[in-house]
Amino acid sequence: MLASIPSASMLGAAGIPVRVEVHVGKGLPGFRIVGQPDTACRESRDRVRAAVMSVGHEWPSKAVTVNLAPSGLRKVGAGLDLAIAVGVLIATDQIPPNAEAGLGFVGELGLDGTLRRVPGVAPMVAVLGDVDAVVPASSVAEARVAAAQEVHVASTLAEVVAVLRGEAAWPDDTPDDDGPDDLPMPDLADVRGQPVARRALEIAAAGGHHLLMVGPPGSGKTMLAQRLCGLLPALDRDDALAATMVHSAAGMQMPRGGLIARPPFRAPHHTTSTIALVGGGSATLRPGEVSLAHAGVLFLDELGEFAPAALDALREPLEEGVIRVCRAHARAVLPARVQLVAATNPCPCGGGPPGWCECDDVARLRYLRRLSGPLLDRFDLRVAVQRPSVDEMLQPTGGEPSALVRDRVAAARSIAIGRADRLNAALHGELLDAYAPLSPDALVVLRSEMERGRLTGRGYHRIRRVARTIADLHGARTGHVDEVLGVEPVEVALSLRTRLRAASPGLVA
Ligand SMILES: [Zn+2]
Repeated sequence: MLASIPSASMLGAAGIPVRVEVHVGKGLPGFRIVGQPDTACRESRDRVRAAVMSVGHEWPSKAVTVNLAPSGLRKVGAGLDLAIAVGVLIATDQIPPNAEAGLGFVGELGLDGTLRRVPGVAPMVAVLGDVDAVVPASSVAEARVAAAQEVHVASTLAEVVAVLRGEAAWPDDTPDDDGPDDLPMPDLADVRGQPVARRALEIAAAGGHHLLMVGPPGSGKTMLAQRLCGLLPALDRDDALAATMVHSAAGMQMPRGGLIARPPFRAPHHTTSTIALVGGGSATLRPGEVSLAHAGVLFLDELGEFAPAALDALREPLEEGVIRVCRAHARAVLPARVQLVAATNPCPCGGGPPGWCECDDVARLRYLRRLSGPLLDRFDLRVAVQRPSVDEMLQPTGGEPSALVRDRVAAARSIAIGRADRLNAALHGELLDAYAPLSPDALVVLRSEMERGRLTGRGYHRIRRVARTIADLHGARTGHVDEVLGVEPVEVALSLRTRLRAASPGLVA
């Protein structure tokens, strides 16, 4: 007897449709899985047999062959368990033939027949096509976000069999209340003082500019970075879906509604391996931190402590918004469009108030050299962050709350998108000339900075992009946007730029 059941497997953040063909026939009793199963997938043999017998059905003493089609692609993980079990029960007439018509199955089986969540339910359900999905009850929210057709849930193999034999209806599919409503968002109101850094965060949010913060330990760089997401608008439908697929594929806990609706924040430690940062590794090609931060913020604290190879690997996502990962026979393209925020101490000892630093020039130079290179060019905004003063720390009230700043940011973003169909951070070359022209006075200011060796050619472009955003934020407040950049936004942009070390070539802002 033969059965053929729709299911799916994973590659990167995408599902791949798989047809599970089960043949039960004459021959020595045994169980074979062909069609490039990985280890976890091959082990479904033992899980499925135990689960089928645990729920009171018979395991055939015949030759059972499972073929996972198409055979050219590697199948990973335990998500095919349920489809294999259903296939065996149909091929042995314990479920009536065609009872599974119009259904696709995704889920791992425990030895006692419980149905468990697997990573990637959302992307796998998305490729099931025109059949309804049957998934573990714990995955219903993410499945429903991705499914084109209906979603049915079950908690055990026994429940699935009962429905297919016509003995019961699908169980109630109320999602359990484990997941958080939405990710909590730290608020800017908690930040005391820090007027310069607050302004830099607002500009970064409005223009999509990558932000580098330079300051001593304890100056609140991490606290500030965590608050950037709260200033960004909610994700649009496409970004929310892409972020949901990535989080599902990585097996992360999902919000209660299943959809990642707010920009994610990821802060990998500097000891994170390159693979964990950009993805890949196992045959699944799991998404890395840069993909988990897709459409949100990637925060790299202690930037200089990251392995050079890891920082190098970020170049592709920062340029193209995607990351390509490959393994022996598989390759995948994962979404990875992030806003980068990084922080560093100014020198090996951490700096501190002026005059405290005891590092000599060689040590300083060596420290900052670690940051040099193409990555540093990505930061339109490089601001110095100081420890808040005692007065600021003792202030009874915090600063302006995130919600107010977010409104200004949204207005400025819509001005930029209305003008050039992109955020200001993406203005390059001709676009910059077209959309960020300078007034003669502003040009004089920048020319003088360049002549005094305080501004490089690249720095000149960065200042123009940032000045464009400052003018847009001003326009959002006053209702009038200056399309030609005057002296004021340019001087503010210059004041927000910290010079990392003039003595070190390539490190001048
Ligand atoms: Zn120092």
